Amino acid sequence: MDTLETPLARKRRARRINKALAELYPYAHAELDFRNPFELVVATVLSAQTTDVLVNQVTKVLFARYPDARSMAEAELAELEVILQPTGFFRAKAKNVLALSTRLVDEFDGEVPGRLEDLVTLPGVGRKTANVVLGNAFGIPGITVDTHFGRLARRFGWTTSEDPVKIEFDVAELFEPRDWTMLSHRVVFHGRRVCHARRPACGACAVANWCPSYGEGETDPVKAAKLLKYELAPGKEALLAQLLAETHRAAEIRMESQRRPG
Ligand code: SF4
Repeated sequence: MDTLETPLARKRRARRINKALAELYPYAHAELDFRNPFELVVATVLSAQTTDVLVNQVTKVLFARYPDARSMAEAELAELEVILQPTGFFRAKAKNVLALSTRLVDEFDGEVPGRLEDLVTLPGVGRKTANVVLGNAFGIPGITVDTHFGRLARRFGWTTSEDPVKIEFDVAELFEPRDWTMLSHRVVFHGRRVCHARRPACGACAVANWCPSYGEGETDPVKAAKLLKYELAPGKEALLAQLLAETHRAAEIRMESQRRPG
């Protein structure tokens, strides 16, 4: 962290970064599929050490068979293991989702609680998972510190810490609570697409102007552009255009429904 930067200047710079990321990723969202808090808490537990895409494939099968905590609490461990196998660490994950469902049934009437202090008592649920669930399934602001978020928060000079809880508190100081959940999605999106752990694409980065770590990665614009991933990757222009068009259309639908009387 730049010790010469005043707290106010840091806050302003952080908000510029957030604004630029919001413009870059208007379609940022939780990448795990879910229809209710139970599905999200289970999907988040399963997402450890694997990709969201894989988890989404597995949960489609899992929730078709066990749609809620009560049915999952009665599942056979061996059967869960078979379904969860593609996600890796499947024995531990099967045990966790079984124990998690049982605890939900025994202690919370089969429902996922909407408080951090209750969520962290569930098997396999730490502060990160709890914040994902609060922010995305309950609309309660939360900062989700995963490996991408921690790395970018340090590169942005928002924290010097490696400790997820300390990072969460340092970053919370810089933003209004109403921005926490979307900020988390945007920063993680940027970490996956541009600001990679090994070779950040600094020369093709929309927040380079406000980033004290500019130069840690490739600064040549042409070479940096080749490092971009997913919809920002070279050759994926059609996908990017589609995502932007869908976001635009969704915003229009929202505005139309707000304008409609009754
Ligand atoms: S300028 Fe470089 S280090 Fe800073 S956010 Fe962009 S890619 Fe990451």
